[in-house]
Amino acid sequence: MTPTIAGVVVEPIWKELYEAARAAQRPREISERVYAGGVAAAVESASGRIYTGVCVDTSCTLGICAERNALFNMITNGEGEVLRVLALMPDGSCAAPCGACREFIAQLMPGRYQDVEVMLDYSAQRVVTMGGLTPEWWI
Ligand SMILES: [Zn+2]
Repeated sequence: MTPTIAGVVVEPIWKELYEAARAAQRPREISERVYAGGVAAAVESASGRIYTGVCVDTSCTLGICAERNALFNMITNGEGEVLRVLALMPDGSCAAPCGACREFIAQLMPGRYQDVEVMLDYSAQRVVTMGGLTPEWWI
């Protein structure tokens, strides 16, 4: 049976990504200087595997966004191409990758990053491409 949210059809892969991100999202203070897990991301690699990552917030910019953490997890596991990105905010909504994450995706897949799909609004199943978000790369 095709999953729906308030009558909106949800593609199974986006449901998997959403649930993977939700399972990884565990906001917590790790130390007085490190807070993690407020935002969680799940990415689908070219092989179809799903990798997750959480944001790590620290003093003096040592942390990382959830999206890049998920992509680093993908790279750690031997893959280098991403098909889909979903970032889950603390309030349960989805959001577009920040500029640094967009730049990383562009550098990861020069000439092909435009096709990477990004979930913008899970409840409405609004998906955009990286090419739509970032049509012209600086290189
Ligand atoms: Zn980011």
